[in-house]
Amino acid sequence: MQVPLLDLKPQYQALKEAIDAAIERVVTSQGFILGPEVEGLESEMAAYLGVPHAVGCASGTDAILLPLRALDPEPGAEVVMPAFTFFATAGAAWNAGFRPVFCDIDPATFNVTRATLEAAWTERTRCVVPVHLFGQMAPMAEIKALARERGSMVLEDCAQAIGARQEDDSGEGSVMAGASGDAGAFSFFPTKNLGGFGDGGLVTSRDADLAERVAKLRVHGGRQMYHHEMVGTNSRLDALQAAVLRVKLPHLDDWARARRENACLYHGGLDDVVEVKLPEVMEGNFHVYNQFTVRADRRDDLRAHLAEAGIGSGVYYPVPLHLQPCFHELGGREGMLPETERACREVLSLPIFPEVGKERVERVIAEIRRFYGYGV
Ligand SMILES: *Cc1c(COP(=O)(O)O)cnc(C)c1O
Repeated sequence: MQVPLLDLKPQYQALKEAIDAAIERVVTSQGFILGPEVEGLESEMAAYLGVPHAVGCASGTDAILLPLRALDPEPGAEVVMPAFTFFATAGAAWNAGFRPVFCDIDPATFNVTRATLEAAWTERTRCVVPVHLFGQMAPMAEIKALARERGSMVLEDCAQAIGARQEDDSGEGSVMAGASGDAGAFSFFPTKNLGGFGDGGLVTSRDADLAERVAKLRVHGGRQMYHHEMVGTNSRLDALQAAVLRVKLPHLDDWARARRENACLYHGGLDDVVEVKLPEVMEGNFHVYNQFTVRADRRDDLRAHLAEAGIGSGVYYPVPLHLQPCFHELGGREGMLPETERACREVLSLPIFPEVGKERVERVIAEIRRFYGYGV
């Protein structure tokens, strides 16, 4: 029995009729750029997340770039972000004209905290980017308090955390990822929890003015054709992608439920395996498990053993951003961010996609137990 890390085909098969009809609707209309499908998705996403403004764009990378670009950084302006994240978080900040400054993570959750961000904060910090890694939100209340005291923007990188939420002290119960900070960045890359049939992204914002600036930047800096108030770019969400995503969005919570059930199975089956440290969920957090990421003794040997047994796994991420060759000039050195560097050596992501099913999760558990010499 093969167990892939991710298989997108069953999700398409289950929704084929509705998705094919949505695609046909767009093709028949020949309206491919923005228009009703994109507007429909934007308002449905805003309603789902409980945020006033949502602006579709071409990718998750651009969803980080556009709100940063809207800040109009002065030379030397900095953005503080974790070094333990996908490259796009830093690449987008760089391309928006900022200097990325990397901070460490909380070893329990792989996320930044107020303390780790604060350690990297300088007078030039204009924005902090909590990345809600693997599907769990970073502690937003303390991060927002820091940003408020210091006068910087909070941009949530929600690429892996659509549908995640967190209890907050506002009295409203819980807040969704992307509705807590000043702005949020989402990705519809096919492997994310809400994936399109190609690239796509979305910016959320609680600030009408920021949303307006992002909406202009995605169409070359002017809402009226041929009138440009700023220099933007072409970063529109494709109408075909929006149509597909609108079919999928109503199923997102069911898929999150299935991912969380799979996580429960792993916890039940690996609880006594001391060589494997299972993901911790911070109190008040609703984790949506874009990845189920453990820390494993002899990680690379375990990974090879699983591969031999036909089981897919992934290492997110093997090289921290402060040690990437392209950021050499920023002065990152080994030993600077110890928890990040340790995570890079220890993490392993296991199959958790909604359709993987109990039987295949149990097979993964059995192979891990066998590898460390536990009874199955
Ligand atoms: C996927 C991802 C992105 C970028 O999204 P794209 O749609 O691939 O551009 C940004 N940040 C994180 C944490 C991601 O996982």
